[in-house]
Amino acid sequence: MGRLSGKTALITGASRGIGEGIAQAFAREGADLYLVSRSSPLDSVLAECRALGVKAEGSLCDVSDSADARRAVDSCVETFGKIDILVNNAGVTRDGLLVRMKDEDFSEVIRINLGGCFNMSRAAAKPMMKKRAGRIINITSVVGAMGNAGQANYAASKAGVVGMTKSVAKELGSRGVTVNALAPGFVETDMTKVLTDENRQLLIKSIPLGRFGSVSDIAGAAVFLASDEAAYITGVTLFVDGGMVMS
Ligand code: NAP
Repeated sequence: MGRLSGKTALITGASRGIGEGIAQAFAREGADLYLVSRSSPLDSVLAECRALGVKAEGSLCDVSDSADARRAVDSCVETFGKIDILVNNAGVTRDGLLVRMKDEDFSEVIRINLGGCFNMSRAAAKPMMKKRAGRIINITSVVGAMGNAGQANYAASKAGVVGMTKSVAKELGSRGVTVNALAPGFVETDMTKVLTDENRQLLIKSIPLGRFGSVSDIAGAAVFLASDEAAYITGVTLFVDGGMVMS
């Protein structure tokens, strides 16, 4: 019996990186999965998860579009009869220094990272409240707590996710739904491939554990927050950052 056997989880941004890693970790723990990406095909991730013995379906959905978000949640509920866990993982960066940042780079990051989290959570809250049970896990970032030059848009979106997490945790607690944020540090994925070696070395110096995180570091924490062991945890931000937030 896996720690998530009998559960159904919807994971956004599951085509690659952290979302793919969470999907695989949830599958290993026995959860059936409904996976979402914006445009990348999900076939290979779905096949990997099915090979681990669970049911896995998915669809393309732009989380920043509220109708799309609702369709994805409805489709999960139609397919599996329920949604027990929502992982709001989809996110983007459009980095640039403040004075050069274009309006659309600011608004797109807020629309997807913060608006997407809102759209998906609002759509999933109804079926969860009806069942008086559910887990919402919002992927934020250490940058939301520390700030980062060149990421005014991204840091604002991720700090917003933390505020939303606490508010929704307060709203839904009495209905048996927990809402938590998971804040990775710097993790080896497509998102961090753009860093120069120099930047990478500078960042590593600021991480007490002396390395970037792996996708499985983050996925393990997501499994914990989704599991029965985390039943009495709500409204927190769990930093999985090698200690970076302290520096
Ligand atoms: P990634 O490798 O760039 O993957 C991003 C995922 O999000 C992809 O599946 C992408 O789908 C999906 N996505 C983007 N925009 C979307 C939209 N509008 N609607 C639906 N899906 C969308 O990113 P990652 O590094 O795994 O990051 C995952 C999450 O962790 C993000 O929220 C990120 O901010 C956060 N995070 C990452 C790091 C890090 O160091 N990597 C650190 C802290 C926090 P497509 O493939 O279709 O584009």
